Amino acid sequence: MPKVSMEELEKTALEMIRNSGSTGILQSDLWRRLGLDSREGSRLVLRLAKKGLIRREQVVVNGRRTYRLRYTRPPSLELKLKVDIEDVLDIPCFTCPFLGQCGPGNFNDPRTCPILQAWLERKARELLGDDGKA
Ligand code: SF4
Repeated sequence: MPKVSMEELEKTALEMIRNSGSTGILQSDLWRRLGLDSREGSRLVLRLAKKGLIRREQVVVNGRRTYRLRYTRPPSLELKLKVDIEDVLDIPCFTCPFLGQCGPGNFNDPRTCPILQAWLERKARELLGDDGKA
């Protein structure tokens, strides 16, 4: 049997856990499907949990304690998924007459620009679902 890299194994395991949806998957079922023993399986699961990609929930099955694994989307990824091209089309810099002279340390500086700052604050409120329209 060809040796599978740890990254491939993690990817496959994560895919299985994600596909198990809100029900999740028992860790022993995951190990069995991946052909891992409990030592290898535990290490794999702990690595995924440490990365914040899965959640482990202690359960009792047939009188034995085990863990149910569920996929957790990382917060940074969640935010990234909410941003698409439509969200940045109205950035003020695209139509700003000072764009050519704007830069760090210049009179027009994106780090201190009140127009850009106001736009960023409005976008952040929209992305976080707090656009003041409620
Ligand atoms: S940061 Fe401000 S001044 Fe610079 S291009 Fe954008 S809107 Fe214009």
